[in-house]
Amino acid sequence: MCGIVAYCGAPPAVPRLLSGLKRLEYRGYDSVGVGLLHRPDDRLCVHRAAGRLTDLVAALPNSGLEAVTTGIGHTRWATHGQPTAANAHPHQDCTQMIAVVHNGTIDNADEVTDWLDARGHKIATEVDTELIAHLIEEHLLEACDPLRASPVTTTEGPADRVAGPAALERLVAAVAGAVEHLRGSWALAVAMDGVPGIVLARHRSPLLLGVTRTALMAASDALGLGPHVEDVRELRDGDVVALAPNRQVSWYDRGGRAVAPPDPLRLSVRHVDAELGGALDYTSKEIAGQPAAAARILDTVAGRLVGGRLLDDLGLPSTLPVHLLACGSSAYAAAVTARLLTQFAGLRTRVMTASERIASPSDGDVLTVAFSQSGETADVLACLQDGRRGPWLAITNNPGSTLARRCDAVFDIQCGPELAVAATKSFTTQVLAGAALALALSTSRSRRDILAWERVLLAVPDRLAATDALAAPIAAELASTFAGQPGWIFISRGAGVPYAQEGALKLKELAYRWTEALPAGELKHGPIALVTSGVPVVAVTAMPTQRLAVNLREVAARGAQVITVGGRIPDAVLPAVLPAREPPWGPLESVVALQHLAREVAVELGHDVDRPRNLAKSVTVE
Ligand code: GLU
Repeated sequence: MCGIVAYCGAPPAVPRLLSGLKRLEYRGYDSVGVGLLHRPDDRLCVHRAAGRLTDLVAALPNSGLEAVTTGIGHTRWATHGQPTAANAHPHQDCTQMIAVVHNGTIDNADEVTDWLDARGHKIATEVDTELIAHLIEEHLLEACDPLRASPVTTTEGPADRVAGPAALERLVAAVAGAVEHLRGSWALAVAMDGVPGIVLARHRSPLLLGVTRTALMAASDALGLGPHVEDVRELRDGDVVALAPNRQVSWYDRGGRAVAPPDPLRLSVRHVDAELGGALDYTSKEIAGQPAAAARILDTVAGRLVGGRLLDDLGLPSTLPVHLLACGSSAYAAAVTARLLTQFAGLRTRVMTASERIASPSDGDVLTVAFSQSGETADVLACLQDGRRGPWLAITNNPGSTLARRCDAVFDIQCGPELAVAATKSFTTQVLAGAALALALSTSRSRRDILAWERVLLAVPDRLAATDALAAPIAAELASTFAGQPGWIFISRGAGVPYAQEGALKLKELAYRWTEALPAGELKHGPIALVTSGVPVVAVTAMPTQRLAVNLREVAARGAQVITVGGRIPDAVLPAVLPAREPPWGPLESVVALQHLAREVAVELGHDVDRPRNLAKSVTVE
């Protein structure tokens, strides 16, 4: 789930590469690197660092960078090999003349390693990407000497053999040849010492190419391209593309034959407000931004729920069974939506974990609703590629994303940039989008019924704001008491369960605490064995029911520290302002209190709440 950026054109290239990488850091931030071609002879220099972009910037030389015309960059989320400087991209071949950045995973890495070993290549790392550099080297050598029988030697450089005006074309042929050996997914940018330009390739991992007034830019997503880019085109699977410094672009297919370029995309790159604006971190800014974000999305659906107008506007049918596809926090938003669709709208639904990709029974068309904040979630995109029966709707924060472009309709949650890695306002607004969709699909319900719930929905922003004000200071107090507890249990009943699960996930992500999240009635079927003196049990209670009260007594009897969230305000330990009658989408407001709790525990433990360990904002590898 790395971010790739490439620049080819008028200098200075380095600031454009670094700003592109900054915008792509949400995709991975365990290590970072660039491969730069210096004028006048396109000399290749590679710089890598473990850690963040700031670590790379500190390691770059102070002079000489203004002569860089062309470069490739990468911010990594490791899949093969540890996140060290040595394993950071760009990866290189035996001669160090080829530099490759890669997003994706090579499934047949072992097989390719054996083949390259037998050909005499010296593989320096465990990273699958390195193999691609050696494969390119191998193809360049073979192009020069098709009958080559002897293994490669590290002194034998392919660059001198491909120098000259045809150098870029030869590199294209070598990249096309190299990817023929691979199985898995890749978006690639390749630079080579002495070769003016860059070669791109893709298979099942998005890569976009855009043109500015002075250069060509490529990136894993539209955000990485930056604001000055026009004429954006997306590489198709199998495309190999040559970028020349005079802004000439040549498109080839996987066999290296020239092909027509794909049509330009219609997308606008949104401005990203990266200011903290007085907040302590992006997480707290984004938690506090939820009332405004909720108001924005509700504004767009108000008055369009009765009679399914929202569906008509999206061009979607209202009668099909619904499949909901998602991962992580989005999967909990999908679970809330599915419950509403089944229990309120009376529709058949199925929630599917995108990474599991179980083929659905082929009993006619379904409406598939794919939830993905970034619209770049590889597991969700892979499902789309596997086959479609009926229309697809994307619920996303990124209408320019790969998912949005490939679906039949898009419901833009427009919650604004979410720069902290853990989802907060994107979760809340995904739930609101799902709730609006479900109300619009409730064609068997009376107009009065829908209008009554629409009014309750429209008051969500006020209740989120009131919850934010009430819960923040109490969450801080609770965190100072409970931060040392290594294991936490989150429970609820009915519509509250997905919120308990989301609260538990937040605590895992931000505070690195082990959590269990389950329907309260399941406790005594096993997990209650975990309860010992002092274990925090967080209970999300829409309307405190007698059955939940019994479960709480059971854990309290075993020494648990019960933290109730929501319910009647004087009774709840951690308050959330909920509607008087429980809505069919459950106690959404409680999630604000749970987000504060997770953040405060993380702060108490001294963690970086915006960039938690091992995570990336958008999961772009399967
Ligand atoms: N497999 C490559 C690595 O481990 C790329 C990973 C990715 O795209 O996230 O560096």
